[in-house]
Amino acid sequence: MRVLVVEDDRNLREQLVAALGDAGYAVDQADNGEDGQFLGETEPYDLVILDLGLPKVDGLTVLKNWRAGGRAMPVLILSARDRWSEKVEGLDLGANDYVTKPFHMGELLARVRANVRRTTDHASSVLECGDLQLNTATGQVLVNGQPIKLTAYQYKVLDYLMHHRGRIVSRSELIEKIYAQDHERDSNTIEVFIGILRRKIGADRIVTEKGLGYRLVNPAEGG
Ligand code: CA
Repeated sequence: MRVLVVEDDRNLREQLVAALGDAGYAVDQADNGEDGQFLGETEPYDLVILDLGLPKVDGLTVLKNWRAGGRAMPVLILSARDRWSEKVEGLDLGANDYVTKPFHMGELLARVRANVRRTTDHASSVLECGDLQLNTATGQVLVNGQPIKLTAYQYKVLDYLMHHRGRIVSRSELIEKIYAQDHERDSNTIEVFIGILRRKIGADRIVTEKGLGYRLVNPAEGG
């Protein structure tokens, strides 16, 4: 899952980037509205955290421009406590959620998870596929009740496949969703991650759709 943080307060931005990175998201960042708007128009984010008071272009204008341009990714706005009218305007312009500053990082991460879930149609923070379970709140993965250890990138791949269970996910889509913008990308590593995941969770859970990509299935259901 890939997230964009648009926030001009450097301290807060770095805290957000670190916390989201620790939680398993690939994170891009912008410190002004112009760069943020451009990234949101050109990169495929699963969620954006958007501050409203931004240099160059303010957050509400950025949001308005994204929605006018058909960009539908979930947007969580950060607003100051006393600016209730901004929240209303933000929601009316198509924001999905808001958090008031100052906030607890735990609450923000929970809201990020909830909004990503809503857009991918999952009701619970524990994603399940047969006896494979991935807890998006704790990062724990269980196979048949037994915890398995995954590296950060193996987790990112499995997390994305679990969120999109049953659907074919192409290699290029995986690459765009597990790496931040400035990360060197090598499509061969996806095959390596898939190979390792198959060994750890069971080979028949990830089906290769020739020429198209991968699909996470529940072998007990026959796909
Ligand atoms: Ca600001």
